[in-house]
Amino acid sequence: MTTLVIATKNAGKAREYQKMLAPHGIEVKTLADFPPISINENGQSFEENATIKAQTVMEALNLPVMADDSGLVVDALNGEPGIHSARYAGDHDDAANNAKLLAALKDVPYEERTAHFHTTIVALKPDGTKLIANGRVDGQILRERRGENGFGYDPLFYLPAYKKTMAQLTADQKNAVSHRGRALREFMQDFPEWWRA
Ligand code: IMP
Repeated sequence: MTTLVIATKNAGKAREYQKMLAPHGIEVKTLADFPPISINENGQSFEENATIKAQTVMEALNLPVMADDSGLVVDALNGEPGIHSARYAGDHDDAANNAKLLAALKDVPYEERTAHFHTTIVALKPDGTKLIANGRVDGQILRERRGENGFGYDPLFYLPAYKKTMAQLTADQKNAVSHRGRALREFMQDFPEWWRA
C-alpha cells in the first residue's frame, strides 16, 4: 500500500500536505487525479464533514484517504460562520464573506471580537482504521482588512502575539502558527503507526 489520496482539489492545500508526507515515501494523489466524485458535505461539525469527505472518497476509490475541514469560529456570533465559512455570504467569495463578517460584528467592541480558526483532519483506510487530528489558533477580528497574503478571512484575523494579521505573515510563518499547520503536525505524529498498521 503506497498511495494516499488527499480529498481536495485545492492545489495549495495538496502541496502543503504533500510536503509533509514526502519523507514517508508515499505516493500522494488528489481528487484531480480521478474522475469526479460527488460528496454530500452535510455534517454538523468539522469532524463530521471531514469524515464524510474521507469516507465517500475511500469507498469510491478503495484507497486510504485523508480529508480535512476548516473554518472560522467567532465567539460573538455563537460560533458562526464555523462549518459555513466557505459560503458564509452565499458563494465561494472571500471579499463577500469578509464584508458580511464585518457587518455582523459592527457593534461588537474589540475585547469581544475573539475568534479562532479550527481544522480537523480525518484519515481513513479501506479496513476502517481512522486517524483524527485537530488544530486551532486564537485571535481577534479587526474592523478593517490588513495584509495581502493568505486567503479567506486571513486579512481580518489578528494575532495579538505577533501584532499582525494572518495575511501579514509569510506562508512559512502562517504554517508555523495556523490551525491547519498545527493539525497537520499532530496528524503526522501518529501517522507512521497508523499507516503501517
Ligand atoms: P476548508 O475546509 O479548509 O476549505 O476551509 C473552509 C473555509 O474556511 C475557507 O473557504 C475559508 O473561508 C475559511 N478558512 C479556512 N482556513 C482558512 C485560513 O487559513 N485562512 C482564512 N480562512 C480560512
